[in-house]
Amino acid sequence: MNQERNDVVLLNRVLVAEGILDAFGHASVRSAADPGRFFLSRSHAPELVEERDVLEFDMKGDPVEPTKENLYSERFIHSEIYKLRPDVMTICHHHAPAILPFCLTDLALKPVTQLGATTGWNVPMWDSRKKFGATNHLVTNADEGRDLAEALGEHHLVLMRRHGATLVASNPAELAFRVVYSAKNAENLYRASLLGKVDCFTEEETRLAGQFRQASIQRGWNLWTRKLGLNNRTSN
Ligand code: MN
Repeated sequence: MNQERNDVVLLNRVLVAEGILDAFGHASVRSAADPGRFFLSRSHAPELVEERDVLEFDMKGDPVEPTKENLYSERFIHSEIYKLRPDVMTICHHHAPAILPFCLTDLALKPVTQLGATTGWNVPMWDSRKKFGATNHLVTNADEGRDLAEALGEHHLVLMRRHGATLVASNPAELAFRVVYSAKNAENLYRASLLGKVDCFTEEETRLAGQFRQASIQRGWNLWTRKLGLNNRTSN
């Protein structure tokens, strides 16, 4: 069993079960053997992804072995972030309903809970329109992927105007934690904003709360993989 291929399967299955991915969205893992390569499924619904669907890609976003399979048109999100961020080992791009309102309005995504501090204080927003004008709102080439990667900068999360979000982490358990709890934070903030003025964390509180223990990060992964009856041995 290839560890990274298994991690790609686990991430896809967990993030579907937690309401982040549906028929669309994708997750990838960088190769441990060759940091210039990464593993990502062929174009496939995340819940259906199995190890045999996972392909190896290079930093141009091309499959290492020629294939006739359909590929995700947005694989350049992954290749360009891995190129720009050597510390990033795994990436998820999604269009979760909890996050979308913050991509469609000027309401700032700020932490409102301790776990929600994973968003960070200043969540960057990438707007494809600024550099690329009218597009189909997919990230379909290296230039767009690079621009998104630059907007992400050193953060864990970048929101994408009228589109969704992309998150990065140093291992699958951390990625799932950040994806799930940034979405839960967005949902809480959205629901609270319907009732009145929201009392968000301060910048200092966000910094303090955002220093998560590894044990806390692992707790979610253990639960989510167990619920699905999956083997959760990961590369972290
Ligand atoms: Mn997308």
